[in-house]
Amino acid sequence: MGKKNSMLKVLVDKRMMILAALGVALYVAVSQYQISLWYVLIAGVALGGIFGKVFCRWVCPMGLIMELMMSMSPDGKVKQMYQYHKLGCPIAWISGGLNKFSLFRIKVNNDSCVSCGKCDKQCYIVAMEPTKYSLYKPKFETPGESYTCSKCLKCVANCPNGSLTYKIR
Ligand code: SF4
Ligand code: SF4
Repeated sequence: MGKKNSMLKVLVDKRMMILAALGVALYVAVSQYQISLWYVLIAGVALGGIFGKVFCRWVCPMGLIMELMMSMSPDGKVKQMYQYHKLGCPIAWISGGLNKFSLFRIKVNNDSCVSCGKCDKQCYIVAMEPTKYSLYKPKFETPGESYTCSKCLKCVANCPNGSLTYKIR
């Protein structure tokens, strides 16, 4: 695994801590300092244009609460995650649509991919629609560009040989 992917794996492994820190900071900014929700909306959409739908799983206080609730659920987490990222809020609707056009996107290098399938096993979109989506199989739709991809980046971080990247296209 390359140095870049190891760093990404650390970030992905610590994602809940990052989400908790940013989510609480955003909540305090809005509730205590009366930062307008319009600014939050604009910032969320701008982030979407650059990185895709990152806001829900890396920044949003509501996203944090939803994920904590889902983690307490004894079963059906994949389905709930899928439904949650389908439903979302205005930031999710717009930034989800931007997954197809954002500067940073998930890309597979089919020359180095060994078809181990580890990426697909990480993805709740593939889990819900395995006959439609795959991160590496040709002729399948790429889940990273679907509306519901929330850029958890578990697929990229778990590719053993760096065949999946998340970078500017
Ligand atoms: S980042 Fe990867 S694993 Fe996560 S939802 Fe998107 S395609 Fe699936
Ligand atoms: S995890 Fe990497 S090597 Fe394995 S199938 Fe996915 S892209 Fe290919």
